[in-house]
This record gives sequence, C-alpha cells and structure tokens, in this order.
Amino acid sequence: MVLQEEREQIVEYGKRMSGDGLSAGTSGNISIYNAEKGWMAISPSGIGYFDTKPEDVVIMDLDAEIIDGARKPSSEWALHAAMYKAKQDCRAVVHTHSMYCTVFAALRQPLKAAHYVIADAGVDTVPCAPYCTFGTRELADAAASTIGGSNAVLLANHGLLVCGGTLKSAYSLACGMEFCAEVEYRAKTIGNPVYLSEEEMAKVLEGFKSYGQPKK
Ligand code: 13P
Ligand code: ZN
Repeated sequence: MVLQEEREQIVEYGKRMSGDGLSAGTSGNISIYNAEKGWMAISPSGIGYFDTKPEDVVIMDLDAEIIDGARKPSSEWALHAAMYKAKQDCRAVVHTHSMYCTVFAALRQPLKAAHYVIADAGVDTVPCAPYCTFGTRELADAAASTIGGSNAVLLANHGLLVCGGTLKSAYSLACGMEFCAEVEYRAKTIGNPVYLSEEEMAKVLEGFKSYGQPKK
C-alpha cells in the first residue's frame, strides 16, 4: 500500500480525536501531505474513527485525482488541498467540530487572546471564515483566503481547521485551540475576559520560538 506510514498515522490520530472528544461521530477529518510525491493521505468520508483501517485511508493528489484507495475520500478533501496549496510549510491538516471552537464559529466570532496559548496558532487572534456549505469549493476558498498567517481558522457555523508541519503538531494545535475557546467561553459566562494586548502577545510569540527542549 502506498503511503503506509501516513495511513497508519491518520488511523491513530483519528482515534485520538474521537477519544479526546474533539469530534463526535464521523465529524471532522484528517490528512497528511507528502510533498515529495505531491499526494495527500486523507481520512475516508463518513466512517467512524474506531472503525477506520489503514486501507480505508484515501491517497489523492491536490486536484481530486485518486491515486489509491477504494473508499470515497473525506467530503472536505478540497478544504485540505486548499491548505497545502496556500501554505508552503503545511504537511498536515486537522478539521474538528470540537464544542467550544464550534460555539465561537456559530457566533462567527474570532478567538481572541483570553489565554496566551492562542499564540500556538502563530497569531494573537484566530479568524473566522465566512459560512459556506460543507464539502464545497466555496468553503475551501473561504478558509484559504481567511487563514492568512495563522495556523488555525474557525469555519462559521461549522468548526475548526488547523495546519501543522506534522500531524503531531497539528493535532496538538487543535487541542490548544479548543482549550483557548473553552477558557474564553467560560470567562465570558461569569464576566468580561481581559484580553492580552498586542505587546504582551508579541512577547509570547517570541518566547514560543525557544520554548521546550532545544532542537537537535
Ligand atoms: P467527512 O466524513 O466526509 O470527512 O465529513 C465530516 C465533516 O466534518 C464535514 O465537514
Ligand atoms: Zn466538518
């Protein structure tokens, strides 16, 4: 099977996404882009994450041609392909209907810096793309033109989309965005969150460059 490693990772992270409560049922989807080949491996449409096997993952190019796989690809394949076309360093995309991000998406409100971890997305505000029907070219275009320099974007009345250099980092960003959305939501229920200023967020963005263990 081509892109075996990518297929296995998609199965593993799909189970995590479901198990961590980020995407109920068959909502959400995951892909990995192999830039050398110009192909993406993407979760199949409408199959539960605990039922998905590596052979169910579909391999396709960014222009809809199926390279390998008997299943129908995620209905959001164009949304994923649009990210790989728009963002040079993007190698993995995670789309969720995680609750708190989806609440902000329903309000069509960007996520603001109620918590400094929003800087994980590389910005101090995560934008919200205009509403378009799921699975359409219009939704792909709306997300691609809204995401800009951010690695995360809300999809109006729908959910969250994140990009990463690896599936591990994209998944961790999806968790981080859900955390930030929950903090902002909860803070709003008992008061008015104090948002971090551009100056404070600039310091966080700088600090994140050297956060954690040094790269080998
Ligand atoms: P798929 O099962 O086709 O990936 O669709 C789920 C979804 O979240 C659509 O936006
Ligand atoms: Zn969706």
